[in-house]
Amino acid sequence: MDELAVAMKARDFIAKCSPLSLPVSVDAYAGQIGGVVKSEALQENEDAWSVQLPNGKYRICVNCAHNSRRQRFSVCHEVAHVVLEITADHTSPSWSFARRPPGEIACDIFAAELLLPHKLFKPRVDAADMGFNAISELADEFDASLMSTGSRFATFSRELCAFVLSEGGKVRYSSRSTSLRDARAWIRSGSDLPKDSYSARVRAGEASSGPEEADPDQWFEDWDREGSLYEDVRQLGQWDQTLTLLWFDDENLPPPQAERARWEEDTYGLRELDGNLPWPGKSKRRR
Ligand SMILES: [Zn+2]
Repeated sequence: MDELAVAMKARDFIAKCSPLSLPVSVDAYAGQIGGVVKSEALQENEDAWSVQLPNGKYRICVNCAHNSRRQRFSVCHEVAHVVLEITADHTSPSWSFARRPPGEIACDIFAAELLLPHKLFKPRVDAADMGFNAISELADEFDASLMSTGSRFATFSRELCAFVLSEGGKVRYSSRSTSLRDARAWIRSGSDLPKDSYSARVRAGEASSGPEEADPDQWFEDWDREGSLYEDVRQLGQWDQTLTLLWFDDENLPPPQAERARWEEDTYGLRELDGNLPWPGKSKRRR
């Protein structure tokens, strides 16, 4: 099941509960599958478990030691196991994206849809400023984690925008807006945080102090476009996770260098021969 299929199933499920007010009620979601939520003492790293009772209903247990946002996510994650009919594999720690089995990732995607429903979230993303201050406000409003909120913020943004999650200084996951995907901006998973980048500095202990200008060459593979890139960062010290938001200031990026050279030729006619052959890639400007 791919990401889109999971998201569509989640939206069908949400339509049955039709949440209108924020934050959404996770008890209502649990109720939709005949589930009752209990907050109990579980093992330290255990998020939740659920069991079907003889009467067909579900008992969902969440870890009372976890903060309420994590508990809300866990309830939605358990609902996902039932709706998607995916057997739980909770042997690896849930906070580590690097070690997450595919079935668990599918349930996480479903859970994020439930907590931040597209219908309610998208209009707020469209109205929000760029940066973690706005994401943090949305996270409060939806009572969801900064990570889930940031990831979906980038996915739904109309801007050229990406959200990057790194663990231990290595990029583990990224989500991009449609326009940034169309611009073919790739972020390689498994690569180190760009050296001396704002994100790397904040991970090393520098305080984050609002958005900074960034070098697109450092973040995107084989990038040969102009455009002003901005970077904002939050560091989650507990798990050495770095959350990065990247966005271009421009509404439309200038085309890649090679295409622009061709466009200039078409527009202004062939240049006079100057002895230099135009060679795509060689004209790449570095700052
Ligand atoms: Zn699970």
